Amino acid sequence: QDTIDKIAAGEVIERPCSVVKELVENAIDAGATAITVEIKEGGISFIRITDNGCGIEHSQVPIAFLRHSTSKIKKVEDLLCVKSLGFRGEALSSIAAISRVELITKTDSELTGTRYLIEGSKEVANEEVGAPDGTTFLVKDLFYNTPARRKFLKTPKTEGNYISDMLERLALSHPDISFKYINNNQTKLHTSGNGNVKDLIYHIYGRDITAALLPVSYKGEFFHLTGFIGKPIVTRGNRNYENYFINGRYIKSSLIAKSIEEAYKNFMMLHQYPFCVLYFEFPGELLDVNVHPTKMELRFGHNQEVYKELYETLFSVLSGREM
Ligand code: ADP
Ligand code: MG
Repeated sequence: QDTIDKIAAGEVIERPCSVVKELVENAIDAGATAITVEIKEGGISFIRITDNGCGIEHSQVPIAFLRHSTSKIKKVEDLLCVKSLGFRGEALSSIAAISRVELITKTDSELTGTRYLIEGSKEVANEEVGAPDGTTFLVKDLFYNTPARRKFLKTPKTEGNYISDMLERLALSHPDISFKYINNNQTKLHTSGNGNVKDLIYHIYGRDITAALLPVSYKGEFFHLTGFIGKPIVTRGNRNYENYFINGRYIKSSLIAKSIEEAYKNFMMLHQYPFCVLYFEFPGELLDVNVHPTKMELRFGHNQEVYKELYETLFSVLSGREM
């Protein structure tokens, strides 16, 4: 069982950034409006995530750490119709298999909270404690019992950068949640959670990009689209500034990326990558989700139409035409 847990864990948790992603997504699913992420040494020795979400009931805590235990949806097909990000019930069991975890949690219907310690899948403590409503996970010494995996980690600085990039995207995907990110006692990101996307872009990317935004608002047959694209003057040399979210998730799609890039290329006659923060809503039945533990691939029911509709939408925004 121990070995199975560790192997399974390796598929879900590749690096500190994966721990942060899974725990932040759980906090989002728990309805949190404020989430704090604190890391030390790139998250390798210390990750603490606090949320003000619904908490976990005392009797449910040990169960939450079992493999394939989820309180969320049962069917993968429901994935894009329901709002929850998690659905596999693999994250907590995987994290607990390869680190030392301390959980403090309380629901608003309980008088006391729970403090639960689990190290290398073994329960070390389970007690009642006073705690505020919500959940705090402390994850220490990642891969302490799987040295081979630990060897594959990059420097703390690089691992920390992966976490920053991901938290920026999580913050952009949820403008109504306040995110705070502290790296080695320094606050790196603190978003207001006021729902204003432009404020968020300013906070994350600064004044120059914010001054060069074109708003996008489009309702078409195949998808709805809102957000901002950068004017051609703020194009970049790589794809890192292309942010798009599909039904609330940050998901890569080469179809969408190519369509956006093609619109810029034909508008400017320049091979550069644009800045954008775009929110797509696709009706669930048009999406085919291919699920793998660490990534999600999307296929669209109408590739050609989606490509064309997006291309034309962005091209007309760039040319300043009404849509
Ligand atoms: P999944 O998210 O796929 O359901 P996880 O292993 O990530 O599986 O989490 C297991 C369960 O633990 C969740 O279904 C949820 O009930 C509970 N849980 C985890 N994190 C939180 C949290 N921050 N707040 C409330 N409940 C949580
Ligand atoms: Mg989860």
